[in-house]
Amino acid sequence: MIRQKKQTNALRVMIVFVVSFFMLMLGITWYKHSKEIRQQDARAVLQAYQENLLHQLQSKLNYAYDLGAMVFPDSVNLERFNREAEKLLKREESVVYVCLIIGDTVESVLPKNEFENEIGKDISEFSYVYTMTKVMGELVVEGPVEFYSEQNVFLFLQPIMENGVYWGQAVVALEAEYVLNQLNLPYLYELGYDYELWHVNSQTGGKDVVICSDEAVDFSFSEKISFYLPNQWNLCILPKYGWVTDAGKIAIAVACIVLDGLMLGFLYCLFKVLEQKKKLKNMSYIDFSTGLLNQKGMEDILNQWIKKGIKSFALFYFVIENYNHIAPVAGQEEEKAFLSKIPEILENYIKNPYVAGHIRDDSFAVAVQDEMTAIQLIDFAKGLSLELLWKVKLEEKKVFLKAKYQYLSYPENEGNGEALLYRVSLQYYEKLKKESPIYTLTEKCRQLSEGDTNVVFDEYTDVGMMQLSMAINQYRKQVEQLAYRDMAFDVGNRMKYLRDAKMLISYDKKRSFNLYCIDICSFGKYNELFNVQTGDEVLRQVISCLTYIFDDFLYRINGDVFLGISFNQEKPEEMISHILKQLEKPIVVGNLKLMLKVKIGVCAYPLHAKTPEGLLEQVQVALRYAKQQVESSVIYDGVLTELLRRENEILCLLEESLRTETLEVWYQPLMNQHTKKFTAAEALVRLKDKDGGYVSAGHVISIAEQNGIIDKLGDYVLRRACGFMKEKGQKLGLTKMGINLSAQQFLVEDGVDRILAGILESGVDPASISLEITETVLIQSFERMKGMLTYLRKKGIHIALDDFGVGYSSFNYLSKLPVDALKIDRTLTKSISDAPKQRALLKAIVDMARINNILIVVEGVETQEECRVMDEAGVDYIQGYYYARPMAEKQLEEKLGENGRK
Ligand code: C2E
Ligand code: CA
Ligand code: CA
Repeated sequence: MIRQKKQTNALRVMIVFVVSFFMLMLGITWYKHSKEIRQQDARAVLQAYQENLLHQLQSKLNYAYDLGAMVFPDSVNLERFNREAEKLLKREESVVYVCLIIGDTVESVLPKNEFENEIGKDISEFSYVYTMTKVMGELVVEGPVEFYSEQNVFLFLQPIMENGVYWGQAVVALEAEYVLNQLNLPYLYELGYDYELWHVNSQTGGKDVVICSDEAVDFSFSEKISFYLPNQWNLCILPKYGWVTDAGKIAIAVACIVLDGLMLGFLYCLFKVLEQKKKLKNMSYIDFSTGLLNQKGMEDILNQWIKKGIKSFALFYFVIENYNHIAPVAGQEEEKAFLSKIPEILENYIKNPYVAGHIRDDSFAVAVQDEMTAIQLIDFAKGLSLELLWKVKLEEKKVFLKAKYQYLSYPENEGNGEALLYRVSLQYYEKLKKESPIYTLTEKCRQLSEGDTNVVFDEYTDVGMMQLSMAINQYRKQVEQLAYRDMAFDVGNRMKYLRDAKMLISYDKKRSFNLYCIDICSFGKYNELFNVQTGDEVLRQVISCLTYIFDDFLYRINGDVFLGISFNQEKPEEMISHILKQLEKPIVVGNLKLMLKVKIGVCAYPLHAKTPEGLLEQVQVALRYAKQQVESSVIYDGVLTELLRRENEILCLLEESLRTETLEVWYQPLMNQHTKKFTAAEALVRLKDKDGGYVSAGHVISIAEQNGIIDKLGDYVLRRACGFMKEKGQKLGLTKMGINLSAQQFLVEDGVDRILAGILESGVDPASISLEITETVLIQSFERMKGMLTYLRKKGIHIALDDFGVGYSSFNYLSKLPVDALKIDRTLTKSISDAPKQRALLKAIVDMARINNILIVVEGVETQEECRVMDEAGVDYIQGYYYARPMAEKQLEEKLGENGRK
C-alpha cells in the first residue's frame, strides 16, 4: 500500500483550480473582446455621425455662409443681403432670425418688425459668441440657446473675412428642434445606443448638453467623438444595455462554466483513463487475496525506491509456519479473514513509509523506509511477527501459527528489488534449514564424530526425532563405553580422564582439584612369578580399593598405573595416607597373600597445570620422583619444582658436554679373584657440574633417558671405552671392559647394529668387551632380547647381567639367559655379609652359575670382611671400593701400572 491518496487529492484540487482560473481568464478576455467589437462598431457609427454633424452644421444648415458671401466683396450690398435674408426667412420656416454685423456694429436684422431696434448695436451688447466669432475668424455654432421669444435656437455665426482679416459676420438663428431633427440623432437610439451630444460652454468652459437620449444614463464608459465649431463638441454613445448585455454576460459566463465543466470533465476522463491504465498495470502487481502487492509488484516498488534514491530501508520476510497444511483444514472463510486483515495490521504497526507484498501463500515481504540498527531490526521483526500470529480454531482447539522471519537492510545489501527479495528469502530458508531438527541432529552427530563430547541430544517434540535421538544416545553410550572404559576391568581409561578433566575445567575454571597417580611397584613380577590371572586379580582388587576412594573419577592409564581425581579440598598428605591405608592390607588371591608397594605422585589444578594433558605430565613427573625415592609419594610442590629446575640444568650441561666431547668416562677396575690382579674394568660416565663436582651417574642416566639422548650418551661412552681398551687395555693388563647399556638403547630400531658398529669401528677385539644389561631390559621382551644377545655373543661380545638381586632375581630364567657374567648388586652383597643364611643363597647362586658357565662378579665390596666372604664363596671378580674406586683414565693407568708391576 502506498500513501499516495493525499497527494493525489491535492493534485486534483490544484488541477480544478488551475482549469477554473484559466476559464475565468478566458471569460474575461471573451468579455473584453466582445466589448471591443461593440466599441469598434460604435466608433464607426460615431465617425459617420461626426461627418454628418459637421456637414449639417458647417454646410447644410449654415445659411449664414451664403448670406455672408453675398454681402462681400461687393462692398456692402445691404439691399441684396436683406432681400436674400427675406427669401431665406420665407423659404426656411425654421430660420428665426438673420443678422448682419459689419465690424462691430449691427447693420441689418430680420425679420425687421421684431428686431429693428437692434440695428446699430455693438456686438459687445450681444452674447460672447459674437465676439468669439470675430476673434476666431471662423464659423461658430452655438445652441441650443434661448432666444428672445423663449424659443430655443441654434446660432450660426459666420465671419466675413477680407484678405484673412475680420470684416464682419452673418448670424442666422435656426429653430433648435429643426436643427436637432436634421442631426438625426434619435436614429442612434434606434441603432441601440443611448447618446449624448454636448459642447463646451465657450464662456464658462462647462458642459452644455445639446441633446441626450436618457438623462439617467452615465456616459462615463461611453464611446466618444469630438469636433470643433470652434468649441469642442462631443458625441457620446453607449449601447442601451451596456457594451456587453447582461444576456451576453450570462452567455459568456455560462459558456465559460460549461467550457470549464467540459474541460474538467475531459481532464477527469483523461485522469481516469490514465488511472485505469495504471490500475491495469498495477493489477498484475496486486495480490487479490490480501490487497497487498504480489512479488512482481514488490520488486517493482523496491526498484522505484532505489531509483528515487531512498537512502536506506529494511526488508523483512515473514513466513507463516505450517500455513500450507493448516489453511485447507481451517477453511476458506478463516483463511480469507486472516489474509484480509493483514493490510490493517501493517498499517497500524508501521509508522514509516512502507510497502508490503504477499509473495507466496505463506510468505509476506515488508520493506520499511528507515535506517535501523541491528537491535531495531530484530525488535521490529519480532514485534510484527507477533502481530501476524494466526490463531486458528481447529476442531474446538486453538492452534497458533507463528510467523517466522528473516530480514536484511539496504544498502548494506546491494542489488535491485528482485535480488534483495531473493536474498532475504534464501537467507530465511538457510536459517530454517539450520533450525530443522534433522539438520541440528546431523550437525551434532558431526561434532560428536569430530571429538566434541559436550554435544547433548535433547529431547525433541517430534516423535520420530525423539526416537532417533534416543537411539543415537544409546549408541553413543555404547561407543563411549568402548572408547572411555577399560573393558577388562570396567574402569575409565586415559581418554576418559582427558574428557572428564576437560569437562571439569570448562565447567568451572576456578574450581580446584587434585590429581593422584598411583603406580604399583614391580607389578610385572606378579605376572612373571605367578600367572596372568594372578596379576589381573591383583589389579581388580586394587581397582576396587581405589574406586572406593575416587568413585567414577578413577582411571587406569597404563598396565599398573592409575589416576584419580579428587575435589575434596583435602590435604594431599592425608589423601595419600588414606590411599596407602587402603592398599596396605594384604591382597588375597587364591591361597596367596600379597603385600603391595605403591608409589604416588600428586599435582593440583590449577596450581601446577591448566590443561588435562599438562596435569597428566606433571603428575607423572611427580610419580617418577616418587619412584626414585624411598618415600612412597611425591607431591608436586616447591621441592619438586626445584628438582625440575636442577634437572634441566643438568640436561643442559650434559648436552653441552656431549657436543664439546668433554663428558668424562671413568673406570673402576675389577679384581680377578683367581689371579689377584685387576684384569677387568667397568666404564662409568662422569658429568662435571658447574661447581667442579660430579653429578651422580644414575641421575645423569635417568635424565638422558627421559630426554631421549641416552642413545647419544651410550654411543659416546661406548666409543670412549672401546677406544681406551684398544689403546691401553693390553698394556694395563685388562682383558675385559664392562660397558653399561640402557634398556632404551635396545629398544630403538637399529639399537643392536649401532652398538655392534660402535665396537667394531673402534677396532677393539669384541671379546674384550662386556656389555652390562639389567633385568629390566630383559623383562621388556624376553624372546626378542634373547635373540639380540645371542647375536651379539656370536660376534664374541660378552654379556653381563647387571644389578642381580634388585629386581625379581628369579632363578627361573637364569639358566635360559644368554649371559656370560652375573653382577651381584651391592644391596645383595651387603645382606650376604650380614647373615649366614644369605651366604648359603650366595653359594647356591655361585654353584648355579658354575653349572651354566657364568662368571660371578660381586659389586659394592667395601670391607675386608666382605671381601673374605666373597672369596670364600668362590666368586670370580670383586668390584668395590675395597679394591678401587672408579677413577679417571690417568689415575687408572697409574694404578694399573702399579698393578702390572705387582
Ligand atoms: P652400576 O652399573 O651398578 O655401577 C656400579 C656403581 O657402583 C657405580 O656407581 C660405582 O661407583 C658404584 N660402586 C662400586 N663399588 C662400590 C662400593 O664399594 N661402594 C659403593 N657405595 N658404590 C660402589 P656410579 O658410577 O654412580 O654409577 C651408578 C649407575 O649408573 C651404574 O650402576 C650404572 O647403572 C649407571 N651408569 C654409569 N655409567 C653408565 C653409562 O655409561 N651407561 C649406562 N647405561 N649406565 C651407566
Ligand atoms: Ca654396571
Ligand atoms: Ca650394578
